[in-house]
Amino acid sequence: MKNASPDTILTHAGNDPHANFGIVNPPVYHASTVLFPTVAALEEAGHSFDGVRYGRIGTPTSQAFEATVARLEGGFKAVTAPSGLAAITTALLAFVSAGDHVLVTDSVYGPTRLFCSDMLKRLGVEAEFYDPLAGAAIERLIRPNTRVVFLESPGSLTFEVQDVPAIAAAAKQAGAVVMIDNTWGTPLFFKPFDHGVDLSIHAATKYMVGHSDAMLGVITAGTEEVWNRLKRNSVQLGTCAGPDDIYLGLRGLRTMGARLRQHQDTALDLARWLQARPEVARVLHPALPDDPGHALWRRDFTGACGLFAIELKPCSAAAVAAFLDGMELFGMGYSWGGYESLILPIHPEKLRTATRWRTDGPMIRLHAGLEDPNDLIADLDRGLARLAAAA
Ligand SMILES: *Cc1c(COP(=O)(O)O)cnc(C)c1O
Repeated sequence: MKNASPDTILTHAGNDPHANFGIVNPPVYHASTVLFPTVAALEEAGHSFDGVRYGRIGTPTSQAFEATVARLEGGFKAVTAPSGLAAITTALLAFVSAGDHVLVTDSVYGPTRLFCSDMLKRLGVEAEFYDPLAGAAIERLIRPNTRVVFLESPGSLTFEVQDVPAIAAAAKQAGAVVMIDNTWGTPLFFKPFDHGVDLSIHAATKYMVGHSDAMLGVITAGTEEVWNRLKRNSVQLGTCAGPDDIYLGLRGLRTMGARLRQHQDTALDLARWLQARPEVARVLHPALPDDPGHALWRRDFTGACGLFAIELKPCSAAAVAAFLDGMELFGMGYSWGGYESLILPIHPEKLRTATRWRTDGPMIRLHAGLEDPNDLIADLDRGLARLAAAA
């Protein structure tokens, strides 16, 4: 269907029931070998990246997932990766060569930072971190050999919203490729290709899979040229995802719109409640009107997911432990985007090199799950009472 809305695309894209006995969901193709009936057919499949000729290159399962994501984002085509981090490293490796310079936001996801400062460095690529709030001023950091400008907006620990169109315009002017980790924005709430981005990267592990049970990544290319280069490099790296995990990603997409609306509403309920608490110094959530990134968020985004952070007023490590150790509904652990609520102490000040992250009190990241918001608030209320008692 042409001009379908995102919820309709999420429900139907990539499915063709009547090609498969009328069964609603597509089959999961477990494939390595693909047979050809004749030499002519074998040779025709040649070295194409589009068809089905060997499991690692692509199957109807990976192609259905990629088609759905690319359509949602309004890109040309997508490439599946076995994790979000693999999607990021595949995208970067596809576009850099020894002697190149890349600019990476200082708010970037920690493992992305490590890949840039360790592995890219060993490959002769210099990664320079830049102030996420640089905007058009990024122009001053661009060198003749700047090949990639990497964004993540908002950052998944500190939630600074970047001026994506201004940064992308400066990068384009200099001929650099613009990549964004769009995991927080999701394909529903931020449209990278409307803002000058060339590649949009997702940890599909988060809201696409949505149930904390599979690792998956996906990269959408805005144009055919970018996709060809990306796909060729992904094939060279051999990074394909398992069919059952891709199926879980495709299944997760069917309900992602409905889930995200509830994640968004509950996160805002929790954020507003936390703002009014005496133990909390500030709440970092771009959809709150007094957040420093709110104006840019309003301009460029159509929604917010369930992930945000708080800074507590200064208190002891024992008080933080008293708060977090006794949570009943909020689990403590890495990742986010599943159906359940999570809470985590974070230390963004340790992950900065270009800028200083200032915080007086301990920082906590929260993921609002699909539980009843009142039950979550009650859990937080008891936690903050434990914190106050231990302080
Ligand atoms: C989790 C995450 C990743 C990495 O995804 P994995 O699937 O865990 O490899 C990348 N970027 C952001 C912003 C993330 O939160």
